[in-house]
Amino acid sequence: MARYTGSVCRLCRREGCKLFLKGDKCYSEKCTIGKRPTPPGEHGQARQRKMSEYGLQLREKQKAKRAYGVLENQFHRYFETAERMKGITGDNLMQLLERRLDNVIYRLGFGSSRPMARQLVLHGHIRVNGKKVTVPSYLVDVNDVITVAAKAAETEHFKALREGTGRVIPQWMVIDAENLKATITALPKREDIDLTIQENLIVELYSR
Ligand code: SF4
Repeated sequence: MARYTGSVCRLCRREGCKLFLKGDKCYSEKCTIGKRPTPPGEHGQARQRKMSEYGLQLREKQKAKRAYGVLENQFHRYFETAERMKGITGDNLMQLLERRLDNVIYRLGFGSSRPMARQLVLHGHIRVNGKKVTVPSYLVDVNDVITVAAKAAETEHFKALREGTGRVIPQWMVIDAENLKATITALPKREDIDLTIQENLIVELYSR
């Protein structure tokens, strides 16, 4: 499956907002988008022209896909699931993306970015309800308990996190940092998600 392997900061510049793909750098003054806010490429500055309605809708979809590290087909499946769920499709879509295990690991601060969190899951360092889960797209549910594998918990990375992960933990989960353990207490609501994505434009795009 083809994954983007170029500069992730380029993706933020393309979308015109922080996608938080590079760990600690994203939270520091070194963040590229602060220094170079124009779209990438030779004609980046000149390209800042008024976008069509379709262009705006497309950009919002790309922003969501890139922030959560999801490819087109899978993203479309999330949309179809969101449509079948009760409630507002856009909110459902964002909730599904937010429930991904790699996102949860990132939100907990176990990984400094979603790509790093994804690696932690893929490498078998994460347990859900005591069982190894190596699928980044695994959707967590209420009362799920997330822990770190005993061997991984002894690495310097996780030992440092026992002092506190330095992350503001979303309201829909609670963390016991000392034991590297978190419990999902509710499903995420749209207002719990800090990404500046206009999901209504994504719904409009798929409804064309
Ligand atoms: Fe790069 Fe992170 Fe800043 Fe995006 S938010 S431009 S990935 S440093």
